[in-house]
This record gives sequence, structure tokens and C-alpha cells, in this order.
Amino acid sequence: MTSHPLRLSFHGAARTVTGSCMEFNHDVRRVLVDCGMFQGSRTLERLNYEPFAFHPREVDAVIVTHAHIDHSGLLPKLVAQGYNGPVWCTPPTRDLLEHMLADAGRLQESEAERHNRRRDRAGDEPFEPAYTAEDAKAAFARCRIVDLEEAFEPAPGFRARMWNAGHILGSASVELEAGGVRVLCSGDLGPDNKAFQRDPEGPGGFDHVICESTYGDRLRDPVTIAERRVLLQSEVEAALLRGGNLVIPVFALERTQELLLDLHYLLATGAIPNVPVFIDSPLAIKVTGVFARYAADLEDTAQANVFEHPSFHFVTDVAGSVALNAMSGAIIMAASGMCEGGRIRHHLLHNLHRRDSTVLFVGYQAQGSLGRVILEGAQRVRISGEDVRVRAQIRVIQSYSAHADQGELLDWIAARMPIAGSLFLDHGEAEAQETMRRELQRRHPDLQVRIPEIGEEYILPPGEPAMRSATGRTDLDQALGRDWQNAYAAFASSLKHDLARLESDREREKALAQMQQVLASYASHKERRARRSRRQ
Ligand SMILES: [Zn+2]
Repeated sequence: MTSHPLRLSFHGAARTVTGSCMEFNHDVRRVLVDCGMFQGSRTLERLNYEPFAFHPREVDAVIVTHAHIDHSGLLPKLVAQGYNGPVWCTPPTRDLLEHMLADAGRLQESEAERHNRRRDRAGDEPFEPAYTAEDAKAAFARCRIVDLEEAFEPAPGFRARMWNAGHILGSASVELEAGGVRVLCSGDLGPDNKAFQRDPEGPGGFDHVICESTYGDRLRDPVTIAERRVLLQSEVEAALLRGGNLVIPVFALERTQELLLDLHYLLATGAIPNVPVFIDSPLAIKVTGVFARYAADLEDTAQANVFEHPSFHFVTDVAGSVALNAMSGAIIMAASGMCEGGRIRHHLLHNLHRRDSTVLFVGYQAQGSLGRVILEGAQRVRISGEDVRVRAQIRVIQSYSAHADQGELLDWIAARMPIAGSLFLDHGEAEAQETMRRELQRRHPDLQVRIPEIGEEYILPPGEPAMRSATGRTDLDQALGRDWQNAYAAFASSLKHDLARLESDREREKALAQMQQVLASYASHKERRARRSRRQ
């Protein structure tokens, strides 16, 4: 081995699906692949406010696989903390980042404002946003574009190339070579039969491959675009029959445009009546503009501009959004896709309690997100401090995935063979990753499969399995799943309802007193332990 081996550290998206960030280290040079935000549970999101595990000034280059915030959302923080190198990405990724980062910056500022109003009242220290809209602009200014399959040198001693990942507009896998070691990072991989995007591509023959595993435990029936449109048509018809609105939580990037493509088709062919379609997301509207610019490069956009139709109404201002409250029998698409923020919460507030409304999920719902809670059948949820009874029809179409399923992931890995060293599975939750590992070991018994943890560092030798050189963080177990705050939210929102079901006020008082006792017993247990340890 050379005196300066190539090292790889995982700073996010390990045993979870957000916060993608890998650090490659060779000699004195550091290259990051992605610098994403953690999303999902509050404990996980707290990581966005922690210091980076490296010094931003000591990073030489960043390569961004695609514009999703969980892969790019901490770039503004990186730049604000002193990073002044290039952010390499494909041309569409740069155009998308302009809007995605600006939106993330505004969101940071407004979240901080909201927290601070509360903290001010409580007399707490002010809460600092992870970054500002100004930082987001500065990060965007660092973007340097490079076309797919074009070799470039992100830092001295590193060679890189990007390959179509087929996941969203501009998405890429990243090939890196340093110190005689050849590595490939999949980035997020798209499925076959994906609207707009060609199937993923890439060369074979690597020392080490890092592959995402979001849907490592899911095998989807292959659904063509035509078949998916039939599914959407029947959901729209059923929702119209119920009489209320069809509310669709969407990701502003790609899912919105895929739905517009399909709705355009259904409207144009008369498969569904001329129902008004509201796109209530300023970000989704800007992103749709980028798609329209690249329409010539996209698949399935042969017809006229698929993002324009007399039924499509793009809602930019708040007044227009509020006006939708009075609507019935409309299709309302709003972000965020997992219902964690944005205008969708407001539409859920107005539609979830209505029996005639329909909420249709068409995207991935991470553990701990409000979307996942609703999808799993919660009868009550808390939105903006209000207790909302779920009476609407909850529906789901699974086939809109932007991620490869297990079969497609295994095919992608097989096409990267031979892999002489290790295969790392990142960007997945525990069950998906273990299932993938089992399948991989069955198919490729000689391949070393690793499931890294956040904080782990590996030495990547040429032609041999990776060696772990630093262990991961032990404090994140709870963050990588449903944490106590989710359990608390579920408990608090059902408490009043559960109490109301008891027979009498006396029973209710008794139940409350017993709950108090349980809490007190935990407190006194702790005090007893403290007293004991003082005596010792
Ligand atoms: Zn993605």
C-alpha cells in the first residue's frame, strides 16, 4: 500500500436516508461527495446544527450528485464556515440548486424566527439558523458545471467523472480515482421506466463501490408509465366521486413535474374531466421552469409543453393559497413531500378532517415524518399546534418512485463488477440494508459487503477489502428511527380523545392521577440512584 492510502469517512446517510456526505481523503487533499441535510425526526435534524466533523476550510473540493436537499442542503453552511473551493455538478443540477438552496435558506430563516418568538416568550437564548438565504446564494455562486462522462480534476491527485444516475434531472453517480484506487459512489439511483430520465449508466471494474439502498428490501412490480397513468386516473376519479379535494403532498423537485406530465396526458386524452389542478408551491413552480428549459433533453416530453395546460394553475402568492381553502373538487399539489413543512400542512389542516377529501401519497415517507404517521393510519395528528382528526381517505401510489428497487439495485451493482475490494451500502434504513446484504452475499459470495455507520472511517486499499480505521458515533441510535418526540406527539394527540372515551369524570381523574404516579416513580427512581451514588 502507498504511504498515503485513500480514506473514506461517512458523515451522513449511513443507516439512514438523509444527510448524505462522504469525505475522501488522500495525502493532504479532501474531497466531499455531497453535503446534505438531515431530514426526518427532530433528533436527526438537530445534527444539521452541529459542527462539521472536518474543517470546512480544509476541504479542497465538493462534488454534488444531485440537487435534492438531503444531498446538497448543508452546502450553504459549509460555505458560511469558510469553504471557498468549487462545488462541481452537472448543468441541470446547478440550475436546480439555485432554487433549492435559496428555498432552504429562506426556510432556515423562517424556522429560526418561529423558534425565537417562542424562546423570547420563555426568556431562552435565541436560536441560530444553520444558515441564511445570503449563505445559500454564496454557496450557489461556488457551483462549477461539468457534463456527464467528462473527466475533471476536483483536487490535485484526484480524477473524477460523473455518470447518469437516472434518479432526477441532473443526477449523477461519481467516479473517483486517487492514489491508484478507483471508487464509484452511486448517488441516488433511479428505477427503470422512470419518466424523463434514462436508466442509470456507468462503467465496471472498481476497487470499491458505495451504493445507495433506500429500497433494498422492496421489489416493485414493473409498472410502465402507461400503467401508472391508469392508477392515477382511477385515484382522481374516486376522489372526484367523493366530492372533496384530492390533496397530493409532493416533492417540489421531479415528483411535481412527473405528476404534471401524467395529469397533462390524462387531461389531454379526456381520461379525466377538466378538473382544476393547483400547484401550490413557489419552489415547485421555479423547478418546473428549469424542467421546461431542459425539456429537449428529457424523455417522454415529445408532446407540446407538458407543463402547461388550461387546467394547471400555478399558485405563487399566499392569498392564492389561502383562497384554496374554499375549494372542493380540485386537485391540490403542495410541498413538502413528507408533510414536514410548507403549504401542504395548511391543506392537510383544511382537508384531513373532511370525509369527502382524499390525501394521495406518491412519494417516500421517511420514518418519523408526518407523512409516514398519516400513511401508517394515525387517527389524529398534530399540525401547527392543532389536533386534527383524520377522516379523509388516505391513498397511496407506490409506483412513482425515483429510486431503484432491490432488483434494479442488484442489477446496477452487477453491472459495476468486478469489484475487487468492498461494496458499501449507504442511504438506507436498517431493514432495507440487511435485506440487500443478504441478497448480495447470496449472489456474490466473495464480495465484502459493509454497512457503514455515521462517523466511521475506512482505508480503501487497491484491490483489497476496506479496513475500518475509526469507529462510528454511538449517540445516534435513537435518532435513526422514531424518537421519543414522535412517540410523545402521538401520545399527546390521542390523550384527550382516549380520556373522553372513559366512562366518567371520576375515571378520567383516576387515569390522570395514575399517569402522574408513573412519571413520579421515574423521577424518584432517579433521585434514589443519585442518593445511593452520593453515599458510595
Ligand atoms: Zn435524491
